Amino acid sequence: MPIRIEVLRCMGCGLCELACSYRREKVFTAMRSSIMLHLDDKRNYFGVMIKLPNDDLVLGRPEGLEVQLAGQSSEDGAGAKPILLREACDECAGDRPHCVAICPAECLSQG
Ligand code: SF4
Ligand code: SF4
Repeated sequence: MPIRIEVLRCMGCGLCELACSYRREKVFTAMRSSIMLHLDDKRNYFGVMIKLPNDDLVLGRPEGLEVQLAGQSSEDGAGAKPILLREACDECAGDRPHCVAICPAECLSQG
């Protein structure tokens, strides 16, 4: 598991998404990041997910960490469709992961 997620520390700032997209594409857009924040205000639900190179997903959720295998769908919480269309996390190709470096809540760490 490349990046560890302690989602209960997450304050929903979205900086990890922007740091990932900037490192990847030199733009600040959550739509191009390999890490995705999921917020569902109606259900008071939140989480952070990362797409792995084999299309598996690491789901960081209040219930705990889970690896969702490619092709599986989650019955609760975060919808994974948007992140499946993006580039997979390459762990910043050996550099210090940008998402880890920018996270102000120490929610993310290198595995
Ligand atoms: S480790 Fe790098 S590529 Fe992976 S989610 Fe974080 S910033 Fe993006
Ligand atoms: S940078 Fe950290 S605190 Fe902010 S949304 Fe990402 S994981 Fe949560």
